[in-house]
Amino acid sequence: MTLSDTSGDAPRPDSPLAAEFLASPNHTERRGVAEPDCVILHYTGMPTGAEALAWLRNPSSEVSAHYVVWEDGRIVQLVGEARRAWHAGLSVWKGERDLNSRSIGIEIVNPGHEGGAPPFPNQQIAAVIALCRDICDRHAIKPERVLAHSDVAPARKIDPGERFPWDRLWREGVGHWIKPSPIEGGPILQSGAEGPPVRALQAMLTLYGYGVEITGVYDKATELCVAAFQRHFRPSKVDGEADVSTVETLRRLIEAVRK
Ligand SMILES: [Zn+2]
Repeated sequence: MTLSDTSGDAPRPDSPLAAEFLASPNHTERRGVAEPDCVILHYTGMPTGAEALAWLRNPSSEVSAHYVVWEDGRIVQLVGEARRAWHAGLSVWKGERDLNSRSIGIEIVNPGHEGGAPPFPNQQIAAVIALCRDICDRHAIKPERVLAHSDVAPARKIDPGERFPWDRLWREGVGHWIKPSPIEGGPILQSGAEGPPVRALQAMLTLYGYGVEITGVYDKATELCVAAFQRHFRPSKVDGEADVSTVETLRRLIEAVRK
């Protein structure tokens, strides 16, 4: 179906890159935020894109996203950008808790970890990059606010996963990323550790944006937060343990964003 055969009252896509608007009923007004200031990337995590699309448009699912990007790079819009789509769920970034109210959500068709984590096709990633550029340009969204679902909900979510090519996005002008520091030696902090070094690590994660409590205890939440950080920024080893490479990469990332 093309835009021309949809019914007369079908909204037009906000992005010129979207082929059509297939409306989802799952949205409300943005709360307290006039315009989105971040982009959250997801994988659909279902066997097929068709199933995911049907789910995202089903009123009983109570989930949606602004855009879906298919394996072949086709982009479909489900919710107008002015509206609050329901994709992030319970989430925190930079101390803010209602990420749905301040974000654009993009679902990338991929069966995810449960479906064997197949790689994202080249043309799909090219479309994600073009769409993110378009959205970030139109809403003046900063590169460091293009995030993974796992970044904003590390205890619940692992999408779009460590196979998602954040390095390529960065090279092509989308998101914030640096080459990870080399992996050498074992963990310096891991589950069960306590004390000022753990507080320092939690403070660094919080400074970058993650929603982890500064408790001084390397608890499950800290481990999952470190794993989320690794999934995005040091994807070759995602184990939730803070080794030198993890801590160094985080430190350099914080420095880079201040420049
Ligand atoms: Zn997600």
